[in-house]
Amino acid sequence: TPPGLLGPADVRRLSTVLGVRPTKTLGQNFVHDAGTVRRIVRAAGVAPGDVVLEVGPGLGSLTLALLEAGAHVVAVEIDPPLARALAATVAERMPDAVGRLDVLTADAMTVRGPADLPGPVAPNRLVANLPYNVAVPVLLTLLRNLPSVTDVLVMVQAEVADRLAAPPGSRTYGVPSAKAAWYASAERAGTISRTVFWPVPNVDSALVRLRRRPAPATTATREEVFAVVDAAFAQRRKTLRAALAGWAGSPAAAEEALRAAGVEPSERGEKLAIADFARIAEHRPSPRG
Ligand code: SAM
Repeated sequence: TPPGLLGPADVRRLSTVLGVRPTKTLGQNFVHDAGTVRRIVRAAGVAPGDVVLEVGPGLGSLTLALLEAGAHVVAVEIDPPLARALAATVAERMPDAVGRLDVLTADAMTVRGPADLPGPVAPNRLVANLPYNVAVPVLLTLLRNLPSVTDVLVMVQAEVADRLAAPPGSRTYGVPSAKAAWYASAERAGTISRTVFWPVPNVDSALVRLRRRPAPATTATREEVFAVVDAAFAQRRKTLRAALAGWAGSPAAAEEALRAAGVEPSERGEKLAIADFARIAEHRPSPRG
């Protein structure tokens, strides 16, 4: 019978055969534990019929587990040698699943819409062990550009998972929390030991689950709302009146917009939910004179 999921010896052998020298810049830490990738797939709730977008398949550890669960996998890998080897790895280890794999060699940040992806239909899920340094921009880009993705389960650095799932008012609430909340609700979904990776990373990892929900009802555009979020958090310790002075034109104009939106001008950005930022965006004063 074909060997199936990758273990420690497989990860070592594959990287040797492919001449892979894992780089920090691309966040290349490969999972060599079958229990871990199965746990991720289970936490994601992947079932036959799902079309799963996987960013950064690497050597194929998670890809094989997604295929094992019956999904069709659309894998987007930036590193050409890894992207090229993926189909052969699946053919060798899970031959029956080869027809359910599509591979795109690309930077996930450049995916502008479903037309940029191979695969039978647009993906309904994103499941990935994201490269650490670009996890948040990749996630926000894909939520923006792929509305068909309604369910997300990603492995990220533990601090990033905290930030994504943080509610307004909590210590880790910030730009990623507020922007992710435009698209989805987010919650932590467990931690992952660093020992399941090769090479062993120097940060802890965690799972975060996001479920798409309607954007807040507002007449402002997403760009307009995100501009308020960026300004509000640019200087964390400032009051909103001061932080939004540049955005509004003056502290007085900021105060007026905040009051019109029903937000206390002496409040700080970390107290506001995405719907509050949207209301503020609606009251941006138009430039005068
Ligand atoms: N999924 C594999 C696993 O669990 O073992 C590998 C995960 S590793 C943390 C991240 C992977 O993302 C690497 O294979 C890396 O080459 C790839 N990667 C890094 N930046 C990327 C980007 N912008 N777009 C697509 N893939 C990227």
